[in-house]
Amino acid sequence: LYSHVRMHAEQATMAQAAELLTPLVLQNYIGGEFVPCSRHIDSYDPSAGEVYCHVPDSGQDEVELAVNAAKEAFPLWASRSPADRARVLYKLADLIEAHLEEFAQAESRDQGKTVKFARTVDIPRAAYNFRFFASSILHHTTECSQMAHVGCVSYTVRCPVGVAGLISPWNLPLYLLTWKIAPAIAAGNTVVAKPSEMTSVTAWMMCKLLKEADVPPGVVNVVFGTGPRAGDALVSHPEVPLISFTGSTATARLITERSAPYCKKLSLELGGKNPAIVFKDADLEECVATTVRSSFSNQGEICLCTSRVFVERSLYPEFLRKFVAAARLWKTGCPSDLSSSNGALISKEHLEKVRSYIKLALSEGAVVHCGEGVDQLTLPQHNKNGYFMAATVITGAADESRCMQEEIFGPVAFVTPFDSEEEAVRRANGVRYGLSAVVWSRDVGRVHRVAQQLQAGLVWTNCWLVRDLNLPFGGMKSSGVGREGGRDSYHFFTEVKTITVKH
Ligand code: NAD
Repeated sequence: LYSHVRMHAEQATMAQAAELLTPLVLQNYIGGEFVPCSRHIDSYDPSAGEVYCHVPDSGQDEVELAVNAAKEAFPLWASRSPADRARVLYKLADLIEAHLEEFAQAESRDQGKTVKFARTVDIPRAAYNFRFFASSILHHTTECSQMAHVGCVSYTVRCPVGVAGLISPWNLPLYLLTWKIAPAIAAGNTVVAKPSEMTSVTAWMMCKLLKEADVPPGVVNVVFGTGPRAGDALVSHPEVPLISFTGSTATARLITERSAPYCKKLSLELGGKNPAIVFKDADLEECVATTVRSSFSNQGEICLCTSRVFVERSLYPEFLRKFVAAARLWKTGCPSDLSSSNGALISKEHLEKVRSYIKLALSEGAVVHCGEGVDQLTLPQHNKNGYFMAATVITGAADESRCMQEEIFGPVAFVTPFDSEEEAVRRANGVRYGLSAVVWSRDVGRVHRVAQQLQAGLVWTNCWLVRDLNLPFGGMKSSGVGREGGRDSYHFFTEVKTITVKH
């Protein structure tokens, strides 16, 4: 049925191979059991353009069941000690790692990303999310004030909130879902999670490990389905007091509206239109190599990917020449081929959307230097119907054009020259998004000065994507509300209470 999967399957066990070769039928995981759903939607393998699995098309009824299971499990789970909960999270991390290869193969088929990326980034990070939050939950302290002058002592306690609603996107499926599940349950909440309907397989595989990890029934419930049905039912459920959402800014607006009547606690991690600013004193080799990685990794389908590259004019010709040459070496090909840097885009619709931006740029006078429409992709036969696009570099787009203002979320980078530091900062900030930015310079004073002026929740200088998970992650302006990360996630998934006692 899927010839290319047989290649994956050669390395798998018989049982795994059977599963890989069958269009999978997923089931919801509610109250510790897999529960069939009567309706399904098709989800595609983007590298073959064929149906990979049938995903439950859950609605209000399934969400209701899951919320009830989570509510029932909450008091017991919340009353466990943090160390006891951490033990379960550590176990789950070990189990995901033990099945790393199966998860990586499935994530690649479901999302289109390379197996190499899933193997080295997505799945190790999913396991680490559980380990990280298991450890960090043990280190949170409370505040205390003596107030001896009024004969009182005052202190804070933090309590889990209840049933957490978690909604995640398709670009880093298990990575981002576990980034929410781990802190939520570590802090004592129970959860109803809804992964993207386009990439549900690894969440379903994780559910198969929950019993073995001693996750009590009802603590983690996963309901599959579309945003407008399953997602909306979760967001508008009166007994789900908080929603952690990662996805597009447009969906975040709907979620904000739908949860407003209940004044829900919201964490919103959204899109970006991230700039890189390259000054003439940058380490050019390092800068070019990293900017290719930051622009095109995971097919450009990472919210932190660089989209606009501002280069100081005197360096611009050399930078552009080297950047285009390096982009051409960023190979797009079969996801299971270890020489591929990129696989397929998530869907036919998304590929068309990204192409439409390139066409628009061309119609407005921009120049495409490599990639789409310039370089021919050589793909194996089994990938001929896949949704592939080569790394594409464009110049000549105006700052105010849609291509330079809107999130494209594909392997496309726009390069443009600038003349002064003030101009670079102003133009980098001239979009409604504010997620991340990169600054390239050897001048220490300059990188601090520019970093402080950039409107972005995360600024890297002379590097990209280096992260300590203890530190805040999130965006400014239309890129998000709230922050995630060690203490921030803990604060989001708990309510703080100040208690004052008179001696
Ligand atoms: P999306 O907003 O279309 O969907 C995200 C999730 O929301 C999916 O599970 C979807 O089913 C659900 N959803 C859709 N409509 C809904 C509704 N009305 N009510 C409730 N849930 C609904 O986003 P996407 O296309 O899956 O993901 C790509 C976007 O995610 C990009 O904008 C990207 O920048 C962003 N993203 C942000 C971060 C970050 O940390 N800031 C990380 C990854 C992706």
